[in-house]
Amino acid sequence: MYEVVVPIKQVPDMQRVRFDTETGRVDRSSAAGVVNPADLHALEVALRIKDTVGAHITVVSMGPTQAHSALKECLARGADRAILLADKVFAGADTWATSHTLASAVRKLGHYDIVVCGEKTVDGDTGQVGPEMAEWLGIPHVTYVREVTEVNGHLRALCDMGDGTYVANAHLPILITVSTRSGRPRYATPRRILEAVTTNIEQWSAQDLEGFACASKLGLKGSPTRLTKVVVPPIQGRKGERISGTPDAAISTLLSRLETGGVL
Ligand SMILES: Cc1cc2nc3c(=O)[nH]c(=O)nc-3n(C[C@H](O)[C@H](O)[C@H](O)COP(=O)(O)OP(=O)(O)OC[C@H]3O[C@@H](n4cnc5c(N)ncnc54)[C@H](O)[C@@H]3O)c2cc1C
Repeated sequence: MYEVVVPIKQVPDMQRVRFDTETGRVDRSSAAGVVNPADLHALEVALRIKDTVGAHITVVSMGPTQAHSALKECLARGADRAILLADKVFAGADTWATSHTLASAVRKLGHYDIVVCGEKTVDGDTGQVGPEMAEWLGIPHVTYVREVTEVNGHLRALCDMGDGTYVANAHLPILITVSTRSGRPRYATPRRILEAVTTNIEQWSAQDLEGFACASKLGLKGSPTRLTKVVVPPIQGRKGERISGTPDAAISTLLSRLETGGVL
């Protein structure tokens, strides 16, 4: 059985969240936390590996205790084990410190074959954490995976490359990041929801990572990135236009608009 680890991040629901345009900060109280959408694709890829060749899936998240609900959702969708990395020492982490913390947790797990990350998050949006984790772990990584086509001591994957696709073949252990163009994430089943409710979420602190993490590389202290300015772009509403006239004339106007807009 393959050991698969899926790092997932809880993010604010971007349909509802408000931004403070003065400070550039996210007003986290304005929206509930959800699993980062790309991470649901990562979990789905892991679940398909489990369906085809058998796997034990561990989901790991670094964040505040509210991230419990995101981990429960992943359990309800089919993950087997959930670990929350929560400690005030982890706060203020940039992608460097975040990836170090997550990689240290993977190392503490002991044996692992495949780490499956999302492509990027909807709040941080850097896409750096996955590849950085691979560097900390000293393993190869493959990005923008659309489909894992084979796992048999090695991994073969189809990867998105803008307007094309390439085939990647790599030995295990490996880290992959999953394209949001991969398969549609499955829903939780009632039976799994019930199981998730009673499944314990393990909580690891900085002390639990001793011997696996370097204390000076955690949280704000271990973050070399300095934010100098945050700009929230103005939200542009959708443009709308009412096309009038006879049905034939309206259709021809619509087609010409779609052509000039590059849709057709
Ligand atoms: C100077 C600085 C200070 C910051 N301070 C804070 C702070 O105080 N509090 C705060 O919440 N954020 C803070 N951040 C943001 C923080 O760095 C990012 O939330 C985090 O590093 C993830 O980066 P990202 O969202 O760009 O992830 P990406 O690189 O876009 O994510 C790729 C994938 O990595 C995995 N992943 C990413 N983050 C996590 C996670 N936390 N747990 C599990 N898996 C994950 C997921 O699979 C995800 O799909 C700070 C950033 C900077 C630059």
